[in-house]
Amino acid sequence: MNTTVTHVDIPIIEAPLIPDIAVTIIDENEREILIQNIKRLLLERNAVIVAHYYTDKDIQRLAEETGGLVSDSLDMARFGNQHSANTLVVAGVRFMGETAKILNPEKTILMPTLKAECSLDLSCPPDAFARFCDQHPERIVVVYANTSVEVKARADWVVTSSNAIKVVEHLMDEGKKILWAPDRHLGHYIQSMTGADMLIWQGACVVHEAFKANGLKRLKLQHPDAAVLVHPEAPAAVIEMADVVGSTSRLINAVKEMPHHTFIVATDNGIFYKMGQVAPDKQLISAPVGGRGATCLSCAHCPWMAMNNLRNLSHALEAGDGEIKVDPLIAEKALISTRRMLEFEG
Ligand code: SF4
Repeated sequence: MNTTVTHVDIPIIEAPLIPDIAVTIIDENEREILIQNIKRLLLERNAVIVAHYYTDKDIQRLAEETGGLVSDSLDMARFGNQHSANTLVVAGVRFMGETAKILNPEKTILMPTLKAECSLDLSCPPDAFARFCDQHPERIVVVYANTSVEVKARADWVVTSSNAIKVVEHLMDEGKKILWAPDRHLGHYIQSMTGADMLIWQGACVVHEAFKANGLKRLKLQHPDAAVLVHPEAPAAVIEMADVVGSTSRLINAVKEMPHHTFIVATDNGIFYKMGQVAPDKQLISAPVGGRGATCLSCAHCPWMAMNNLRNLSHALEAGDGEIKVDPLIAEKALISTRRMLEFEG
């Protein structure tokens, strides 16, 4: 596939500070009490849990047991939008809570913690991004869902890794040139698959960027029959070695549907809970990462997703803490690009 590369100055953004992985120890006794408390509060508040695949398995299990959802960010947005609950408890990171608020201004959106950020969101400051867009008015602005409400308000389209390629192909059919933000690896992957003329912001996901092609090569030698599953936020050299590249939902389906017994998985290892559920007899191995100072060999877990736990989820429901608030005028603008994401039938 031919690709069009446009050379322009892309703003250089400082790498965000990464928090240490939060380890919250909850013993069996407390766990049971918290689960019962959360179940009671969900009923009392007419609330439902909408959780991401990367969150703690206790939260995923509880969401499923109580009529909530565990999924990727596109389905989380859809589910929250269609559900009749007054309160959505979004277990994930802040942009997911903000997306829920953009789509459901009348609902209360709670999060276990408002400190759960995302390196992609942090790497795309709204002011710098707006200036960049202003410099390229001829381009249609397409942003990944992993962005703030302000960035979504500046965008023409919001996409997720589930529908990004199809949306870009649709825009190419209309003769559009694209300004893409914030993930550079996903941007380059879309460009390589579609040949679109894309100007790419230089953000990255700290979890996926750490997967290493050399380590993956060595691991493949040890498991020659394994299929390699890669999320497109990983670097190109890792993507090149994949049998399947796709969103979290696509990778889960691959584990279920492919005949292989062993899978090497290059995405956050929180996904192993759902993969183990849909294919309990299969072997799942985390792809190798460099990590901080190249000392971390298998810590493929998002430090912000790890901030969600049963204790702060229970507290959010009990105290009404962790409520997502967004400026209604900005949210109204962001609704236009976000709605396009939900309504797009590719
Ligand atoms: S895994 Fe990466 S993209 Fe997902 S929330 Fe964490 S930092 Fe953001």
